[in-house]
Amino acid sequence: MSAQEQVLKQRSEILHALCSSGSAEGLERILDLLLAQGVVVWEDYQNIVVPARALCTNARQLLDLVFGKGEDACGLLLAALRQVLSEAQRAALSLADCCSSREETDGLHGTATQTLLKERPGLVSKLQDCVDGALEVLVEAGCFTKADSDDVQLPVYTPSQQARHLLDHARSKGEKAAKILLQFIQEKEGRRLPSKQDKWSPPEVCLQYQKKLCSTVSAQSHFLSTYGGTSNMSLDDIYIENHLELSHDCADAHQVLHLTDIVDTAGTLNEEADTVLVSGEAGSGKSTLLQRLHLLWARGMALHDILLLFPFSCRKLSSEHRELSLQELLFQHCCWPDREQDQLFQFILDNPHHILFTFDGLDELKQHFSDEHRHCCPTQCAPVPILLFNLLQGSLMKGVLKVVTSRLEAVNPALRRYLRKEVLLKGFSVDGIDCFVKKNHSDPIVAATVLQSLQSNTALLALCHTPVLCWIISKCHKELLGCGESSPQTITDVYLMILQHFFQHQNPQKSTLSLGWVSGHVDTALRLGRLAFEGMGSCCYIFSGTELETSGVTEEDISMGFLTHSNNLSSVDCKQYEFLHVTMQCFFAALYIVLDNNLDPSAIFKLFQPQDMQQTNISSACFGLCLTSTVQKEGVCEKEAMIAQTPNLQITATFLAGLLSQRHRSLLLQCCSGSTLDKKSRQVVKCLSKGMQKHFKSIPPPVEGEKKSMHAMPDFVWLIKCIYEMQETRLAKDVMAKLEVEHLKLTYCNIGPVECTALAYVLQHLKNPVGLQLDYNSVGDVGVEQLLPCMHICNSLYLRNNNISDEGIRKLVAKGIQCESFQKIALFNNKLTDVCTQHLSHLLKTKQNFLALRLGNNNITAEGAKQLAEGLRFNQSLQYLGLWGNKIGNTGAEALANALEDNKTLTWLSLVDNGVGSAGACALAKVIKKTTTLHELWLMNNCITRSGVECLIQALTHNTSVKSVWLRGNDVSVEDVEEMSQREARLIF
Ligand code: ADP
Repeated sequence: MSAQEQVLKQRSEILHALCSSGSAEGLERILDLLLAQGVVVWEDYQNIVVPARALCTNARQLLDLVFGKGEDACGLLLAALRQVLSEAQRAALSLADCCSSREETDGLHGTATQTLLKERPGLVSKLQDCVDGALEVLVEAGCFTKADSDDVQLPVYTPSQQARHLLDHARSKGEKAAKILLQFIQEKEGRRLPSKQDKWSPPEVCLQYQKKLCSTVSAQSHFLSTYGGTSNMSLDDIYIENHLELSHDCADAHQVLHLTDIVDTAGTLNEEADTVLVSGEAGSGKSTLLQRLHLLWARGMALHDILLLFPFSCRKLSSEHRELSLQELLFQHCCWPDREQDQLFQFILDNPHHILFTFDGLDELKQHFSDEHRHCCPTQCAPVPILLFNLLQGSLMKGVLKVVTSRLEAVNPALRRYLRKEVLLKGFSVDGIDCFVKKNHSDPIVAATVLQSLQSNTALLALCHTPVLCWIISKCHKELLGCGESSPQTITDVYLMILQHFFQHQNPQKSTLSLGWVSGHVDTALRLGRLAFEGMGSCCYIFSGTELETSGVTEEDISMGFLTHSNNLSSVDCKQYEFLHVTMQCFFAALYIVLDNNLDPSAIFKLFQPQDMQQTNISSACFGLCLTSTVQKEGVCEKEAMIAQTPNLQITATFLAGLLSQRHRSLLLQCCSGSTLDKKSRQVVKCLSKGMQKHFKSIPPPVEGEKKSMHAMPDFVWLIKCIYEMQETRLAKDVMAKLEVEHLKLTYCNIGPVECTALAYVLQHLKNPVGLQLDYNSVGDVGVEQLLPCMHICNSLYLRNNNISDEGIRKLVAKGIQCESFQKIALFNNKLTDVCTQHLSHLLKTKQNFLALRLGNNNITAEGAKQLAEGLRFNQSLQYLGLWGNKIGNTGAEALANALEDNKTLTWLSLVDNGVGSAGACALAKVIKKTTTLHELWLMNNCITRSGVECLIQALTHNTSVKSVWLRGNDVSVEDVEEMSQREARLIF
């Protein structure tokens, strides 16, 4: 059969192969090859890739065009398909081998723009993980404008699409741009080559194994795992860069990271250690992030120095009860080598720097990390947790980089000692949410409507920062859009929405009976709930067919979509299941507690006091019983298993509080009696009140001269979230009536927008205003908006290091000027620019009782200082002004000084590290001359010379209020320092 005939005959199969995943990547890769070979010219390309058109229409256009171009073109199309499609797709298409193969390119393409076209397939893959860097170079060279760069980086594009747009832009700009781009790629490639050992190449056995491992890893990570059973979502289509930060303890903490930076040197805390920890809350995208990293590696698009990557799931390792050697662990759990296992293993031992291990979900292991049991021998067998812990701490396979993900609560101090660096996963940014919704809904009208409903319900928008919730909300868009005014407010609302979605999906004809949707499925809910609840008690997340049977789970229950197949390489039992996500298991466990009439009455109490259970070793009919049986079998101490379980029990408790809220009473009344619901609800309220009181009792009496202050204990935020889930103002009021503090400290408490919603809901009922300290969290602009309802009880708001931008400040100021008590704000180390200073200036002008404004370490320039000066001119209250680490320069300092000349309130001013020179110092000298209030002036790390200091000395002779002028780190010689400090003792060098 000729190639042309084959294209015609297999048209529908080819279209299916190119379009069934919904991703345009296959088609675009085919086009890259055909463009490079000249089968498709640029005009054709533009006729084929029409952005707003359906993928299949684009693919049809390609087939028509190539078919029209004759036999050779069809031959090259078939060759391209063979190169791009997966093995299974190729087999389905039965692509004959007779068709033309790709012509070898001769490397002499003439001009640089031609090279960009001829080498397109390779260049796309080389560029996609360094588009930002390439754009920077092109902008710097004047070849690209900022608008070009923004165009390429539009967040709706996948990385490979960005690379293609970059190539197209560069070609349209001409030779110079093309040359610069090629040079950039060459340099980048050069840097990647193993320097001295250019000639070194791994042995054949390793290369063969690498090939097998790559295809295994690629197959495992191609589709998003939790979509199994419901629909197949390709990771390429759906992946959004998550917000990543280095942990706060290191010097570059605020730098935003990209995925592959995880394995870079930036943020290294301990050079000796090999383990990188990626931590984030449940559903923040830890598994997906690893999956993306695996996929990039398998495709040769990242981690170029890594020859072999071994991915492990701790959830799956937990069900491995055999003792294994390291070799068995690697080969049986990741990928089995077809030959020469020992030689390959030796290669792995000898080349640790070319190997990477990843361990997903350390928190799902029954044992907490411990370094008590050393195991150094790679050939000796040991229980899997022991192998894992020794790998992480470096007794085994020293030098191999290990990336491990975990929820933060589960990381104990013992593990921290062995961490090379720590990366925090913060979920989606607002742009990420936008992008996610657009990627999920190919119909732009649906996407726009979903986004609109998020904009009108910022509590829901806050929830969408957590990817798993963003996924649910996006998936349940019909339910969301149908619920009008009463759109979801709480996490429980969101999970009820997906419950409804799956139930009605199963029974579409009943979908209009919106009120009866739970009662029709109560048996399923109970069976799945029991499975989830008992699993929770035994740290069990993977269920065998037998376990399903014990809980009575039927085939029909499985087909609902809440459970998904779990592929476990090491298990002979192929019928294993897990819940779509661990939070889904928690939700079903909570639902079970609500729906089961025979529940042990102490279950709710125990759920809310997991810590107490740990201390007293209580084990009984509820969580304890199932816990004892399984843990004894595996030799895990019950207390340890309980600790590992605490985060999940807390999520379950949060759902329980939400389900027992009055708002869901009518829904649940269809399945349980009102009195049972009331009883359980009262129990939850009691647990929450008692839990909060325990915190309040821990508040120490105030030290003399200091404010009565409470530093939140770890569970405080969780209890607040539970109260929010209940949505009962009465409970919030009662609880807050008992809190008597002047200062509430919640630093480093992992507070994001969702937590802000809950905090504001509860704290707004405080009796007296407090200082609310939220430094070092991830509040962001959406979080700031969520905090507004409690602004009236904040006299001071500390938001250092919280990823807040000008937009957040605009909203905060608009509310703050209406709040009489609000007097101080600290915004050190956020993302503020001159745009926010106009709002702050308005605040200074309007609020004549405002006392302190701290804006250190932001991006405020002279323009911003001028705006602030405008406000200061009219302000008669401000005492503290901090601008440390901005860029106001002489002009900014002069503007501030002019505005402050007649000021009668300011006592403390910091312009440290602002590029202020002598002109600025002389302007400030005029303030010193007149002021009677200023005590301290901080001018360290600027560029003031002797003449500037002379001005200050001069002014100080007329002043008695100033106690110190800090001048260390300016342009003054040692001799001058000595001489001038003798003349004026208040100068501190
Ligand atoms: P975790 O491991 O932290 O519990 P997961 O990685 O399982 O979280 O994410 C839960 C769900 O959230 C995924 O199934 C997916 O739907 C969505 N998700 C997470 N991260 C991303 C991402 N980077 N891009 C797109 N969707 C994501």
